[in-house]
Amino acid sequence: MSEQGKTILVVGGGISVMTTAIEAAEAGYKAVIIERNSYLGGRVAQMNKYFPKLCPPYCGMEINFSRMRSNPNVRSYTLARLESLNKEDGTYKAAVKVEPRFVNSKCTACGECEKVCPVDRPNDFNYGMDTTKAIYLPHEMAFPVRYAVDGAACKGASCGKCVEACKYDAIELEMQAETVEIEADAVVMATGWNPYDPNKIDNLAFGKSPNIINNVMMERLAAVNGPTGGKIQRPSDGKEPASVAFVQCAGSRDENHMQHCSAICCLATFKQIAYLHEQNPEIQAYMFYIDLRAQGKYEAFVQDVSAQENTTLIKGKVAEIAEDGATGGFIVTAENAVTGEKVHQAVDMVVLATGMDPASNEMRAPVSLDYEMSGFMVPSSDPGIIATGVAKKPSDVASCTQDATAATLKAIQSIVRR
Ligand SMILES: Cc1cc2nc3c(=O)[nH]c(=O)nc-3n(C[C@H](O)[C@H](O)[C@H](O)COP(=O)(O)OP(=O)(O)OC[C@H]3O[C@@H](n4cnc5c(N)ncnc54)[C@H](O)[C@@H]3O)c2cc1C
Repeated sequence: MSEQGKTILVVGGGISVMTTAIEAAEAGYKAVIIERNSYLGGRVAQMNKYFPKLCPPYCGMEINFSRMRSNPNVRSYTLARLESLNKEDGTYKAAVKVEPRFVNSKCTACGECEKVCPVDRPNDFNYGMDTTKAIYLPHEMAFPVRYAVDGAACKGASCGKCVEACKYDAIELEMQAETVEIEADAVVMATGWNPYDPNKIDNLAFGKSPNIINNVMMERLAAVNGPTGGKIQRPSDGKEPASVAFVQCAGSRDENHMQHCSAICCLATFKQIAYLHEQNPEIQAYMFYIDLRAQGKYEAFVQDVSAQENTTLIKGKVAEIAEDGATGGFIVTAENAVTGEKVHQAVDMVVLATGMDPASNEMRAPVSLDYEMSGFMVPSSDPGIIATGVAKKPSDVASCTQDATAATLKAIQSIVRR
């Protein structure tokens, strides 16, 4: 009990970090979250539904936000990155750079600023499939519920229309970046993943047509707060696709790309076939796979979806996706590994099941940690630095929350045993 009140620094802002922070705070420790985005929730915030129950992620997420809101032991910084971390006499000293949000805590998210903003920018929350204004609410369920200004897109004080429109004095276009010094007694790293960049996979033709998307884009297309209001349609012409090919292991289990299996892509595709059939059971879904991977409790979910009508599973790695000029669709070519036949399947749309690329491959945090070749973190020789979530290994949400709870315990043990 004497150690309560000590601080655990948690880097990231997804489900793993939120779980670690809440568990630590509810055990009486202080938790400080550092998230690079303008909102918490990580990639789960961008999902339409969770497998296997297919409920919206915001059911569970909102419970976490409310536990955080009601607990003064949790503090979070968004638009923040760890600049340096040093250990002195057993205490970690972190320098955290916080980028300006240009909107202060007086914001009520009324949206009057957005109405007058003259600048459009790609909406990264929807993976660039639509735009927002330069002053934007990250998404409807964002935590914190506060607008932010994209400093790179905004015209600044020379425009200032949003400042005039705001009745609450919430917009400060002169806000500057600041560096915050934080002292902590343990550090938990949960920086998660990025979707593997499909532009790197030449034979799968991503970027050649807007009708070839990847699985994270499909989550946004199916979401009611997504770019099409939840209607799954071809980005090129807004038509409902009559047929969709799902290409598994797009960049995964491949020595030219990522060697690892992301463990969830087969399940994500089954979930997305269910989205198609919720919209229209007549849509033909073709899933091209190397092996189907769904462990333990997920087996029944896979059986249910794959037994649906208009669902065809083809065991074969896709060799080529060629545009079919006449229809705006594609011919997907693969060798069926069971029959030995070449398959040339015509479809209206393609979804590439890209896997989880550890965010550490984009940027390594200045923390003394080792990494596997794939970029996943391995346990640190310093017991006060703990990795968790997808930063450590590809996992579903349930496994991440279990591991993040264990990370809290390890952090507390490292403090108590010091
Ligand atoms: C297509 C697809 C569908 C999926 N669907 C499901 C599903 O239905 N059910 C399920 O259980 N799982 C699903 N998953 C898996 C799920 O997304 C992960 O389990 C979950 O995102 C892991 O959470 P995390 O907190 O570890 O990482 P993340 O969600 O990636 O969160 C990490 C956070 O850290 C932040 N960050 C990264 N680097 C830094 C840095 N240097 N400094 C500060 N912050 C940083 C990021 O901005 C992010 O907010 C799916 C995965 C994919 C690819």
